[in-house]
Amino acid sequence: MPIQNILPLSDWVLSRDPKQRLRIMRSLMAAYSYVACVVLLVYSSWAGFVAPRSMWWLCTAAVVNLAFWYTVLRTGLNRRFQDPSLTLPQVLTGLAIGITAYAVTGPVHGSTLILLALVMIFGIFALQSRTAKIVGAFTVLVMAGTIVYKSATDPIHYPLTLEIAHFILIASILPTISTLAAQFSALRLRLEQQKKDLAEAVDRIQELATRDELTGLINRRHMMEVLNQHQKRLLRSGHHQFYLALLDVDHFKRINDTHGHNVGDEVLNRFASVVESALRDTDILARWGGEEFLLLLNDTTAEVANIALERARTALKDTPLLPSQPDLRITFSAGMTGYLEGELLHACIERADKALYRAKEQGRNCTVIDDRDSVEQEPPDQP
Ligand code: GH3
Ligand code: MG
Ligand code: MG
Repeated sequence: MPIQNILPLSDWVLSRDPKQRLRIMRSLMAAYSYVACVVLLVYSSWAGFVAPRSMWWLCTAAVVNLAFWYTVLRTGLNRRFQDPSLTLPQVLTGLAIGITAYAVTGPVHGSTLILLALVMIFGIFALQSRTAKIVGAFTVLVMAGTIVYKSATDPIHYPLTLEIAHFILIASILPTISTLAAQFSALRLRLEQQKKDLAEAVDRIQELATRDELTGLINRRHMMEVLNQHQKRLLRSGHHQFYLALLDVDHFKRINDTHGHNVGDEVLNRFASVVESALRDTDILARWGGEEFLLLLNDTTAEVANIALERARTALKDTPLLPSQPDLRITFSAGMTGYLEGELLHACIERADKALYRAKEQGRNCTVIDDRDSVEQEPPDQP
């Protein structure tokens, strides 16, 4: 197996997915409490406070519990649940083990209270405040039952007076834990909202940076990026030939002069949408500047590209652009050329521009194609 295919140990133990890593790390942090619990049990058994049978059962429960949650998280089974962190069930099983340790450790049972507090603190980071209250109520109820049972059956090790003190301790830290959980939960929500707002702002900035506001088409800067990608694709594969057409609205100044600049804006916007809807999905129209548009026609031939332009021309002839001026029509002139493999994009655009100039000279409302066979050559030397 190649060395680079071997996962680093931390990836292997914690997974590569950052969210899963965090969940597994949190779960493994609880391992400290379980190790402490096991050490306490072994010590209590050695000192004769706990029956070896109880000690073995409880140590096994702690280890199996830890292994169980680790397996669920590491295999990704947790993703099927509404809360993939599975904090609540992990906290509840941890509390069950802690309370059982409290019940079996006889004279040293007071020290297990610290373990219980640790388990609840673990929950603070992920539990909603309501769930933290449920956990608190669960702990109080089960502790109350355990205390009553133990002081009745083993009053020497669990004297009622001491147990009442323990109970007061447990019951009084719960409101603090619930408050902290509520604060963490609010903080989490705020952070999530901020993250969402930030993502929306980035999308908006991206939109502003790449789109022309008036027509909604991509702008000149973004079109250059798109063209660069197409150029690279062509260089890599040797196919995906594309054509560029520069479109310029004919006599647009007259529209501004006759109807005003606002109407001119609206006409430009409608022009963009009528032309775009006459093209194929794979063709890309960009606002190049003013009343000029650059069209990228993908994977095509001069003939097919010209048909697309004629379709746009017909659509413009048939479509009223403004409801207030149903007779208003506009035409465009276009210069089109195929991209020649290896040439600079600017050279190709300049060729389209020259072809556009010729279309204007030829009387407008037409397309001049400057295909690869008729690329302008240096004039031959005069004899
Ligand atoms: P030709 O057929 O030779 O292209 O004539 P033309 O009038 O279209 O070209 P000319 O370059 O003389 O005028 C273009 C006009 O387009 C001038 C400019 O004010 C107008 N224009 C450019 N951008 C906008 C815009 O965003 N909104 C509006 N309303 N007008 C614009
Ligand atoms: Mg112009
Ligand atoms: Mg014009």
